[in-house]
Amino acid sequence: MPIITTSERQRTVRHSASLSGIALHTGNRVKLTLHPAEAGTGVRFRRVDLPGTPEIRGLVTHVNDTRRGTTITENGASVHTVEHLLAAVNALGLDNLVIDMVGPEPPIGDGSAEPYVELLRSAGAVEQDAFRNYLAVERMHHIQMGDTHLVLLPDPAAFRISCTVKYHTNPMDCQYMTLAVTEESFVKELLRARTFCLFSEIEYLMKNNLIRGGSLDNAVVIRQDAIFSKEGLRYPDEVVRHKVMDMVGDLFLLGMRLRAHVIAIKPGHPSNVELAKKLVAEEMG
Ligand SMILES: [Zn+2]
Repeated sequence: MPIITTSERQRTVRHSASLSGIALHTGNRVKLTLHPAEAGTGVRFRRVDLPGTPEIRGLVTHVNDTRRGTTITENGASVHTVEHLLAAVNALGLDNLVIDMVGPEPPIGDGSAEPYVELLRSAGAVEQDAFRNYLAVERMHHIQMGDTHLVLLPDPAAFRISCTVKYHTNPMDCQYMTLAVTEESFVKELLRARTFCLFSEIEYLMKNNLIRGGSLDNAVVIRQDAIFSKEGLRYPDEVVRHKVMDMVGDLFLLGMRLRAHVIAIKPGHPSNVELAKKLVAEEMG
């Protein structure tokens, strides 16, 4: 069976903890509060600002939009842009959380995973009375969407992502990295990599009301001849590091951690989610 149970215990947060700020796409002020949750809960969002407090499980089967960010919808309610928060939850080894949302999106912070890692660390962690499952695939999977390719190879020992990006817009945007994802490597290599967008996309995003909270406080903008950023680049290859971080978050929508080697050429939320849906259908059914 590709789903293996280890001797590792499931974990949740020790205390509740909150984070407030501006949401990237809606531009509204939003707040989230993490709470400890029982073993086997997984990650569940609750829209406490809506009548009946609808629950939305952090599972790929509930993803219904992947333009720019990953949106999950269940019980008539949505949470947008869950990937950076889920990346931090995945990397920090938490399994069970209830996340109360006042608003439809977590605060974007500086566009990186750092605010969520700080939040989770401030909440602490406790081991629970249940073992943790992993998905350890035994055969190759691949998907292609346009010039995006994702290949997933068995690797029972680690969760490794090898990723390359190339937008043909700027000599600095051809980047590659490979990383075995652990809490330590995540914090060292991916933590501070920010959201970015192409200069040519901004008009579309604004017309579609997708980046109302966007600014150079939380995004890097890439143009042919320049990279716009308030503080310069945090890593010379910040773009590919952010892409890898996004994959750590999107692939946690499997509902368990993956042990495999993902080789990704120009990945994005649509392809990450497509791969996760394929794994659910073909490996976890
Ligand atoms: Zn992202």
